[in-house]
Amino acid sequence: MPELPEVETIRLGLQKYLVGHKIESVEVKVPKLFEGAPKDIVGARVTDVRRFGKGLVIDLSNGKSLAIHIKLTGQLIFRDEKTSKLPVSEEKVGTLPSTATHIIFHLDKGATLYYNDRRRFGWIRAVNTSKVSEIPFFKNMGPEPFKDLTLEVFENLIKRSNTAIKPYIMDQTRIGGIGNIYANDALWLSDIDPRRKAKTLTGAEIKKLYDAVLSVMEKSLKFGGASELNFVNVLGQEGSYQNHSLVYGREGQKCQKNDGGTIKKFFLGGRGTYCCEEHQK
Ligand SMILES: [Zn+2]
Repeated sequence: MPELPEVETIRLGLQKYLVGHKIESVEVKVPKLFEGAPKDIVGARVTDVRRFGKGLVIDLSNGKSLAIHIKLTGQLIFRDEKTSKLPVSEEKVGTLPSTATHIIFHLDKGATLYYNDRRRFGWIRAVNTSKVSEIPFFKNMGPEPFKDLTLEVFENLIKRSNTAIKPYIMDQTRIGGIGNIYANDALWLSDIDPRRKAKTLTGAEIKKLYDAVLSVMEKSLKFGGASELNFVNVLGQEGSYQNHSLVYGREGQKCQKNDGGTIKKFFLGGRGTYCCEEHQK
């Protein structure tokens, strides 16, 4: 599932290309993916694009916003005269529109924003901007890295929990934005076994983990996110973090710390977990 770096990559793209455009009409092909009335947003201009953990909010000039969760396979792809010549990922996008295109926003100046979603788990809601924070997904989200998750907040959360550290930091109601890829890589980088109970971590380990979370996410942003499943940026291009992951997806490979360890894979909280037992304690 796309995580903070992927959704931030989309946000940066929308900020660059979408802001300033006016929505002229909306085609909703799969009604369950769009809540609210399309007429409420027609004629409005995009003024800002915000991100809350893995959620996006497109603010409009008429007091309305589009709240979006792309879930597993959602894609937001922008096209206009200039960008229409740029190639999109053949494998993850194909043609535009495609059979996975369920909502189309027709914009002014001949531009278009496509919402594609192969698995159809995502959602777009047209709501009053003042009510965005009342949507349960946003309301229940914990503090997030690069925003309000300070080391002190992180430490206080972790010291109180009896849960295994990896599922704990992936719980969006505790901490927003960390998913499976970056939880695996951050724990590997900070030498912590993903199965450790959160409250057994020492202050030094918590600090190491905190720094590791920020560092793997910064690295991923540089690579444009990880293109697992269907993630692409707003131009329909793939990210490449998956080629640079530390431990995620590396079952059976030698540990990159050169400690003689081999990466094992097991399931923890239902999610694929990668670990080098040689140095992760
Ligand atoms: Zn190792």
